[in-house]
Amino acid sequence: MLKIPAFYDMHSHLENAFIGGNASSLEEAVEKWSKIRDKMSLEDLKKRIEKAALVELFYGTTHIRVHADTCSKNSVKAAILAKEELKEYVDLQIVAFPEQGIFNCSKEDFINYAKLADIIGGKPEVDENPKEHMDFISELAFKLGKHIDVHIDQHDAKTKHSEYMLRVAKTHLALSHLTALHFYSDKYAKRLIKTIKEKNASVISSPLTAFYLNGGNSYPMYRGLTRIKELLKEGINVCLGHDDIQNPFYPSGVGDMLQVLWMAMNIEKEFDPSWINLITRNAEKEFGYKNEDYILVDVNSIEELISTLIPRRAVIRKGKIVAKSTIEMKVLDLNPLSLIEELKGENFNTSL
Ligand SMILES: [Zn+2]
Repeated sequence: MLKIPAFYDMHSHLENAFIGGNASSLEEAVEKWSKIRDKMSLEDLKKRIEKAALVELFYGTTHIRVHADTCSKNSVKAAILAKEELKEYVDLQIVAFPEQGIFNCSKEDFINYAKLADIIGGKPEVDENPKEHMDFISELAFKLGKHIDVHIDQHDAKTKHSEYMLRVAKTHLALSHLTALHFYSDKYAKRLIKTIKEKNASVISSPLTAFYLNGGNSYPMYRGLTRIKELLKEGINVCLGHDDIQNPFYPSGVGDMLQVLWMAMNIEKEFDPSWINLITRNAEKEFGYKNEDYILVDVNSIEELISTLIPRRAVIRKGKIVAKSTIEMKVLDLNPLSLIEELKGENFNTSL
């Protein structure tokens, strides 16, 4: 039995989790969501956020950063109510997130929601003048004394908004997605990474949606994810988010951060067990305070946990069991994990 720290989901949209659907691009997904959001009542949205957070808790996540859409009438209010309701079980951190822009929707609404939220969000590419958008959130965050977490450069189109955002941010900055970093020239990427480091900014990556929404729909169907390996090598704090769960932005997933980590490791071709920090210690640092929540799993190592994605046996929050599973693992009369142990016990020299 292995005891590990509980997980963090550092980027999620829970108000539309499990609504179903799919899309061939980010814009199409946003369009679909924008037609639904105001048909959902405050109570509907709140309940959806709470239930989705509890599903994540089952898989071991006790801290979630929730981006709530400020272009929606009730999303931020619903998220604030859900935060209060859930606090014994899951800590939510609410970001005021302008899905379709600040000036495209209502500047006044954005300011009001920003005051209610914990963190100031952004999405510069969707307003007519991205620099005006970034100046605005930087000033507002400074005035309210809040951190910034901005959806930025999340296409393969090589937009370079991060450079400006890093220049104007006056409070702590997290760059969410940053998938364009995958596509920049090595020279530009290196320079940007250096600036991220100097600014002590974090990068929050969401491999599931990045993999699904990037790269077009015809072959070669390349997949863009931010350069996690290079960012970590330079000592930048990188953490991961589930982002979307079974909605037009990402039609699969179940709120399990281990699947998210597994995807990141596959795309980055990196199976270093220390990457568990992307959903534990690094995320804790970005979230802002320590906790002692933990998970028990029926494996002996992080490597085994990542390769089996085994259900969590128990999740312990503030000293109490808040989630558990009782699976019986048998194939014929054998335990599959013991079979894996036996197979791995036979030593082969696979080096050249
Ligand atoms: Zn997002």
